[in-house]
Amino acid sequence: MIEPDQIIYLDNNATTRLDPAVVEEMLPFLTSYYGNPSSAYGFGAQVRDAIEVARERVAALIGAAPGEIIFTSGGTESSNSALHSALQLQPARRHLVTTAVEHSATRRHCEQLAAAGCEVTIVGVDHEGAIDLDVFAQALRPDTAIVSAMWANNETGVLFPIAELAELARAKRVPFHTDAVQAVGKIPIRASDLPLNFMSLSAHKIHGPKGVGALYIQRHSAFRPSLFGGGQEGDRRPGTENVAAIIGFGKAADLASSFLAEEAGRVRHLRDDFESQIFARVPEAVVNGDRSNRLPNTSSLSFPGVDSAALLLLLDRYGVCCSAGSACLTGSLEASHVLRAMHLDEATLRSSVRFSFSRFNDGTDVARAAEIVGRVVEQLRVQSRSNPSVVRVA
Ligand code: PLP
Repeated sequence: MIEPDQIIYLDNNATTRLDPAVVEEMLPFLTSYYGNPSSAYGFGAQVRDAIEVARERVAALIGAAPGEIIFTSGGTESSNSALHSALQLQPARRHLVTTAVEHSATRRHCEQLAAAGCEVTIVGVDHEGAIDLDVFAQALRPDTAIVSAMWANNETGVLFPIAELAELARAKRVPFHTDAVQAVGKIPIRASDLPLNFMSLSAHKIHGPKGVGALYIQRHSAFRPSLFGGGQEGDRRPGTENVAAIIGFGKAADLASSFLAEEAGRVRHLRDDFESQIFARVPEAVVNGDRSNRLPNTSSLSFPGVDSAALLLLLDRYGVCCSAGSACLTGSLEASHVLRAMHLDEATLRSSVRFSFSRFNDGTDVARAAEIVGRVVEQLRVQSRSNPSVVRVA
């Protein structure tokens, strides 16, 4: 078992450490305040009130009204239910539009919908990970049930112009969903200023607990739930609430709101510093994706000539946590579908590693990680030069 204090955690797009203040706020709801929020007596009502505070906090983080937030089991469920709802409510519309770089939460769902008879148009991206607005507009049709486009890419951090995309969809009367799981808490978001219908959020990417998220449903947007049963969440997401997790999500959202401006600047500085130190040690390293239009915490780098699986294995031995492609792809030999969609050459694809930072990182993490990465890259280069067919990590 690796002790947490021995690692350098640079995989914050996979998940984040719980903020101790979040744990503190959750604990009473795991011990003393165990009432069912639906119960009529005061002991239940107290819990119900606490959930409403959490809802207000999550709504405030994305500039929405509390009534526009429903709690779910996470980003995956939120995105699934937005797409499901659109198809249920518009039986004559059997076409969906999405992009080539979505997280598997959307990508796999769309594959499954295509297998079930829907038509899915996948809009590609360019070398920098950017989407072409004209190509996107042309993909929208009278029978398009919904568009699903992510706000920030989990692998490269590249941001899509969500306001413009949503505007184009609205002009054609197509509902718009954005997977904002990676964007929330890292860049300012004001849902009320945007022509969005649905937005997916997840707590564990913002120092909240795992297994809880939210779906923003714009107040005038029709929604049909995927689950049926008790009337919780205004009948839009039935099932007894995951109370402590929701309370934790609320606290994490509140912290994210108060730290956002300062944190984004500090984390950007750490990320940029890390990249500078990497380039000083490995001048051939390249940044994948548009450097000027990406999340402040994400660095997708390729080290040509170095196999990313071997690199990850060695970095793991030195306690550096980072990832190649998205977390769920790790362990598979498939190169990242995101980097492939960006038409990167095979050498760049096979040597990519994602580092992602958070407010719990500091300059020491950056300096230690950059030194270790530089050393390990050099070690693997020497090995592959001496025997190009063998990559030894022993
Ligand atoms: N969407 C994106 C962009 C993500 O990065 C993730 C998590 O990795 C998800 C959706 C899934 O969220 P959750 O783990 O809360 O289901």
